[in-house]
Amino acid sequence: MPVERKHCQCQDTQGHFLQRAFDNLKLEPAQRELLLAPFRETTISIPLRVHQQGREVLHTFSGYRVQHNHARGPFKGGLRFHPGVNLGETRALARLMTWKSALVDVPFGGAKGGIALDPKTLGADALEVLTKRFTQKMVPLLGVHQDIPAPDIGTNPQVMAWILEEYSKAHGYTPGVVTGKPLELGGSAGRLEATGYGVACVIRKVASEMSRPIEGARVVVQGFGNVGSHVAQSLARMGACIIALSDYRGGVAAESGIDVSAAVRHVAEAEWLEGLAGTEPISNAELLELPCDFLIPAALEATINCDNASAIRAAVVVEAANIPVTYTADATLRDRGIVIIPDILANAGGVLTSYYEWVQNLQEFPWDRETVLHRLEQRLLRVYEQVRDLARSHRVDLRTAAYDLAIGRVAKAITLRGF
Ligand code: GLU
Repeated sequence: MPVERKHCQCQDTQGHFLQRAFDNLKLEPAQRELLLAPFRETTISIPLRVHQQGREVLHTFSGYRVQHNHARGPFKGGLRFHPGVNLGETRALARLMTWKSALVDVPFGGAKGGIALDPKTLGADALEVLTKRFTQKMVPLLGVHQDIPAPDIGTNPQVMAWILEEYSKAHGYTPGVVTGKPLELGGSAGRLEATGYGVACVIRKVASEMSRPIEGARVVVQGFGNVGSHVAQSLARMGACIIALSDYRGGVAAESGIDVSAAVRHVAEAEWLEGLAGTEPISNAELLELPCDFLIPAALEATINCDNASAIRAAVVVEAANIPVTYTADATLRDRGIVIIPDILANAGGVLTSYYEWVQNLQEFPWDRETVLHRLEQRLLRVYEQVRDLARSHRVDLRTAAYDLAIGRVAKAITLRGF
């Protein structure tokens, strides 16, 4: 799908789900306006000399930080390095963070940022310089009680370490200003796999409630990055049968199940899933239409849209990515009886564990991995049960229930604080 259309769909989709929640909650026009409006949007130009076709050329990269809402705590949200990053998309994703933090009831608001670039095209040195220049210009916005970035698509613990370094130059060593850091710099045990593990825990719970035990459940994962690779590994450990995986280039499938550990080793060496032993190649489009119990879009927005929604043959779609299902596709899937586990619930293990990391940094007292993952699972499943119960009692789908719960909490905080 063309990038422009994707962006449009992602913003429209947010707007559509929001209007429904605003109506359900009977919010006044002024409250709606406050909930929609970003607190601050910052666009940053970052000049950098890059090598292009054997020559060094000056390129100006565009970076963004949208701070959406801080009624319930400091702004919180990831930084994305991807060619498709732009202000509109960042705005929609920042809002989503506000609802996600509220849904899992962590004391954070919502933000998102990023730089429009393909990080694979820059060497590590250039990426470090670019990240530090971007951070220099963001330093006045950031702070342990102000705005706390984290990884997202195309970023990782190393990028977070560069942000920490740049912020600490101005303010002294401050690990709590960023989450998803390396363990050596105050990162939390379990944070790397937290989002994927959380998705898997929710799936195991849903599977047991649908009398489709996780052992042997047939699963398709689209995207093999920060989130998808850990969803696949966690589910494989729980006994699920991963029948197809994909990355940006394409997918691999095996009727009898893929050896996910072998896939991780293969990608570490070959960079892509392509050529994984014991699998057949499959396109990303074909992969989405495979019959399965759980289909897990774990890459970009608008992956399931009006072009393919009627061809999806999964019992449950689990939104490991942010906004992977457009609102038209959401309606089509629901009409066809397909259950959707919404992003602000399914992938909230990431921000939840960022909260645990932040708490450990404030207390200067690290927890072990078992404690982190146990708390993550307990809390996420409790939130799932709240959403499920609300959905049942109001006779609505899980997304509507999750949005109503989350937005109601943010609206209440705004009223209490008297914004
Ligand atoms: N980027 C992740 C998300 O979209 C994590 C954000 C965070 O931990 O602040 O939820």
